[in-house]
Amino acid sequence: MIKEYSHEPFTDFLIEKNYREMEQALEHIKSYLGKKHSLLIDGKNVETDEEITSINPANKEEVVGYVSKASKEHAEDAMKAAHHAFESWRLWDAEARAELLFRAAAITRRRKKELTALLIKEGGKPWKEADADIAEGIDFMEYYGREMIRLKDGAPVKSRDGEKNKYIYTSMGVTVVIPPWNFAFAIMVGTTVAPIVTGNTVVLKPASNTPVIARAFIDILQEAGIPKGVVNFCPGSGSEVGDYLVDHPLTHLISFTGSREVGTRIYNRASQVREGQKWLKRSIIEMGGKDTVVVDKNADLEAAAEEIFVSAFGFSGQKCSAGSRAVIHEDVYDRVVERVVKIAETKKVGDPVDGKTYMGPVIDQSSFDKIMDYIEIGKEEGRLVYGGKSDDSKGFFIDPTIFADVDPKARIMQEEIFGPVLAFSKGGDFKELIEIANNTEYGLTGAVFSNNREHLEYAKGHFHVGNLYFNRNCTGAIVGYHPFGGFNMSGTDSKAGGPDYLPLHMLPKTISEML
Ligand code: NAP
Repeated sequence: MIKEYSHEPFTDFLIEKNYREMEQALEHIKSYLGKKHSLLIDGKNVETDEEITSINPANKEEVVGYVSKASKEHAEDAMKAAHHAFESWRLWDAEARAELLFRAAAITRRRKKELTALLIKEGGKPWKEADADIAEGIDFMEYYGREMIRLKDGAPVKSRDGEKNKYIYTSMGVTVVIPPWNFAFAIMVGTTVAPIVTGNTVVLKPASNTPVIARAFIDILQEAGIPKGVVNFCPGSGSEVGDYLVDHPLTHLISFTGSREVGTRIYNRASQVREGQKWLKRSIIEMGGKDTVVVDKNADLEAAAEEIFVSAFGFSGQKCSAGSRAVIHEDVYDRVVERVVKIAETKKVGDPVDGKTYMGPVIDQSSFDKIMDYIEIGKEEGRLVYGGKSDDSKGFFIDPTIFADVDPKARIMQEEIFGPVLAFSKGGDFKELIEIANNTEYGLTGAVFSNNREHLEYAKGHFHVGNLYFNRNCTGAIVGYHPFGGFNMSGTDSKAGGPDYLPLHMLPKTISEML
């Protein structure tokens, strides 16, 4: 009997025992930092001469691991292995595939603190954020396992007299999985196990900034008993190996999460039919955001200020759901801006290895440089009211940075910065606040603070985002509770962690038999 799904609890690090265990885990993983990690192709570990060096963004000197780097030839071998394994894997019972996910979830849960420690080092995540990332990975396995069992017999259709009709879901084939580095465990796990549990086989190209945590998950899948060739691990350059896998005629499904630039490139390439290709490729493309927190004049301003801060600066603003714009009613604008600045003054920025750190580094030098360029642009476009300072001597640290009085059409109000930069704009009435909130090309998340029921109803119909939150922050979607995905240039709105997600990985088949 499988227990009803409920999400993995978050660890309370205020409890002394949890705090000590996390410190011990951070100490423990030092024993294997800097180790070499191989590719996995057709169940075999493959080492290459060329390697990706994964470093700790809080301490550039610290190497988290050296990971073998796949060439096009390795990608070809991985495609062939996945294609071959598909023939037997698709015939496994849905329950058996789901049980594999449940075993992998149990192993992950047992190793939770160790994996959290690894993510703190490789992703630069503060403890709370890293813990939530691992918990979300567990949730994806538990939720999708149950979802596959729910869908195993298909969906009901009618039969006329003298016929028996069935509508079932069948597997598609080889899935190319390309996740980002910012939820280096959760998104990588979710986008890998969804095709696996639906009977497809996978070639996983992890993000080059976070390949060590991805390899740790591959080891977990192996321990859980995944057959050879069902998952193949191919770290490598996005433009070289990524393009090759996307273009390959044996690729049937592409599951990508990342930037608008790469997402639209993949979407275009996937639409081209290559020589020897026997199907139209399906692509799940989840991209960026420029998400807004709206504050109405009669809202709880203290709660709004707290949640604006959390939305903008959780994981240094490096979330697709980050609330990097706040649009406030003019009557309460000054009070809200002032309060958010006061909150910023109380937060600790530094190496996340320290459990008291609220905000750690940004991921790498090129992100650091890009964010600092936007801060310079912001100084032209608005009034700098907090932050703006940075230090990349040891790690890639940028203070929480707040601009007030920014025009809604300004670049820092329109473009995804993906860093700790928040811009404030004001508006005259509620309709105008929502109009400003909608005026980007994205449509991922949004939050509204209001105690006016009519305004909340108006927002339901007019605020055009995939995930809309009332009187709370606009980040932190939980699998099975807040299915996640965005409108417009935020992607295909596949709603990861929701009831419609697994069918995107399968081909519905109608069988009609005369009796
Ligand atoms: P990215 O630069 O687009 O990279 C994402 C993945 O694509 C990486 O694995 C990358 O590999 C790979 N890639 C790069 N070029 C490629 C190509 N030509 N063909 C195939 N793959 C290629 O994004 P990121 O910096 O990792 O992640 C941040 C972005 O992700 C932000 O825009 C954020 O909003 C978005 N995001 C969206 C969601 C969502 O659910 N909507 C969730 C999380 C993040 P390399 O690492 O080797 O370059």
